[in-house]
Amino acid sequence: MSLKPQALPSLLGYTSDDLTTLLKEEHGQPAYRVQQALEWIYKHRADSVDEMLNLPAGLRDTLKNNFRMSPLELVRVQGSEDTTRKYLFKLHDGRYVETVLIPASPALYGEKSDRHTACVSSQVGCAYGCKFCASGLDGFTRNLTADEIVGQLMAVEKHAGRKINNIVFMGMGEPLANFKNLNQALDIITGNWGLNIGARHITISTSGLAPMIKKLADRPQQIRLAISLHGATNDTRDKIMPVNSKWKIEELFDALHYYKSKSKKRITFEYILIKGINDELEQASILAKRAKSLGALVNLIPYNTVEGLEWERPSEEHCYKFRDIVRNNDVTTTLRIEKGHDIDAACGQLRLKQETADGKISLD
Ligand code: SAH
Ligand code: SF4
Repeated sequence: MSLKPQALPSLLGYTSDDLTTLLKEEHGQPAYRVQQALEWIYKHRADSVDEMLNLPAGLRDTLKNNFRMSPLELVRVQGSEDTTRKYLFKLHDGRYVETVLIPASPALYGEKSDRHTACVSSQVGCAYGCKFCASGLDGFTRNLTADEIVGQLMAVEKHAGRKINNIVFMGMGEPLANFKNLNQALDIITGNWGLNIGARHITISTSGLAPMIKKLADRPQQIRLAISLHGATNDTRDKIMPVNSKWKIEELFDALHYYKSKSKKRITFEYILIKGINDELEQASILAKRAKSLGALVNLIPYNTVEGLEWERPSEEHCYKFRDIVRNNDVTTTLRIEKGHDIDAACGQLRLKQETADGKISLD
């Protein structure tokens, strides 16, 4: 008896090696057939197995009966062609994730400015509960599978009709808390038979899971790393990021020095400026020293209002003052004054609204 299409594994979740072994051992298929199937998926972007015309009918039936193609259903798109666009996807279990496409994004992560950047999610919800973030407001639901991570990129490329050439894991979830599936997705994204996007065009953002940062550093490819720092001292980080009670700044920096010893890529510090919470100018000087010790870049981001939270962004003037202190310490610093409020640009907000409307989340 065949499984319901919903429950079938997606073809997007396999590396070339995995699929070759699986189709050989379970279905007696030669390796070159797997390469042909992968070309249909990643080069020709076939929507269904029926399009894979050079595969024998028997193999097409095997694929149709045992796998599905995309694991995601596009339910909503906000934004227009030349602005940031936000995609809401429904998963097979009725949950939602969001992916953001940022056209020609400015050079934030050491990239050229003509990049099309996708901001992808790695989990539904987040267990880390940072106090400024919509993704963690209702806690953690589940990890995304590798095919759900890869599927976001393919679905966005298909809708937008353009190739994504830069990826940031800054959507919903803590990617390093989903290390196994993240690792699998990275193999598929970077594989030359897969999405073929170079590791240097991929940035993983983490709130500071020190042991996992070391594990990421041990990957052979050099993925870029961004740290959601948001406080330059333990006291300030403790106020807004519960993760800091597990891995203090000292332990985090120890892991960052290890990462640096393994990778030539510069680390980026993300620092949201929240009025009266972490925007004292003293934090700016300490942040500058810490960034300097690692040769890191600093991105300052004025806080985006989240429904249900009372915090505000500091005045633009204060943001510039904070930036200048960091900059005057010879640290490359950007200040992103985002215009994204109108499309719920801070990650997690669109999903939160949809799941609240569907009755999956109740916020009281
Ligand atoms: N969990 C990882 C990956 C998600 S990135 C991490 O925390 O790094 C989530 C990023 O979204 C945060 O670092 C922050 O830069 C941004 N963010 C979250 N809430 C925000 C808000 N209210 N305003 C501005 N940026 C926000
Ligand atoms: Fe989770 Fe990152 Fe949001 Fe913190 S900032 S709650 S770690 S998604």
